[in-house]
Amino acid sequence: MKFSVGTQAIVVGDVDQASIDSIAAIAENAVPATLALANARADHPLLILLPRSSAEYSRWQGVNPQVTVDSGAMTVRGLSGKPGWIVVNQMLDGNDTLITGAETPLISDIIYHETFHAVTLPSKWVYAPAWVIEGYAVWTSGHSAQVVSSMHPKNPVLPTYAQIHSADNAPYYYDAGSFVGYLQYVYSWQTALVFYQDAIAQNTPDVDALFNKHFGVSLPVAVAAWKRNYAHQVANVDLYT
Ligand SMILES: [Zn+2]
Repeated sequence: MKFSVGTQAIVVGDVDQASIDSIAAIAENAVPATLALANARADHPLLILLPRSSAEYSRWQGVNPQVTVDSGAMTVRGLSGKPGWIVVNQMLDGNDTLITGAETPLISDIIYHETFHAVTLPSKWVYAPAWVIEGYAVWTSGHSAQVVSSMHPKNPVLPTYAQIHSADNAPYYYDAGSFVGYLQYVYSWQTALVFYQDAIAQNTPDVDALFNKHFGVSLPVAVAAWKRNYAHQVANVDLYT
């Protein structure tokens, strides 16, 4: 077992020390940045586990329902309060190749994404909509952007739980993150964050009334406006050729 003990994160794994150190370096920045963005605090460093294989990684899913599973990593909720800890699947390319290094944007996005889950989700099952849970983590990880790119769908949808958890879910993650980006752009990050916190605390799939309360418009009206904005960007930026 190898490890790195930092001020913001403790990284433990059955992998080479360079992998441990590169993820620890990312986490030292990701944890304080995410805590500040989420207006949250942590009483101890964030624990990040690096299993040596995809098989070992998948065993962590057995601690459901207190797990938020993404394709490259998952967040296990803390036993009492926050934060929980993160398990990173390093075999992301399906070829047992470690994807590490501070210069690799993918692993950096993943650490930021899971850190947002870890510092904002309670240690119980969350019934808030999947677009809320994943969209905010996508947006705050920098994985998404208000500006469209050629990597992303032309016609976004506010994804359902089934879409977020489908096999080809990457575009739906992007869509959710794009909508959250739109909300913070139009209504301010502070307004968007308080809606998120209330949605997690309310813990029901129906956030329509809460959405109205915080944004002053209905969810369908805001989604329609976001889609118009998205289409406007697509029309004005030649990214699809
Ligand atoms: Zn996630």
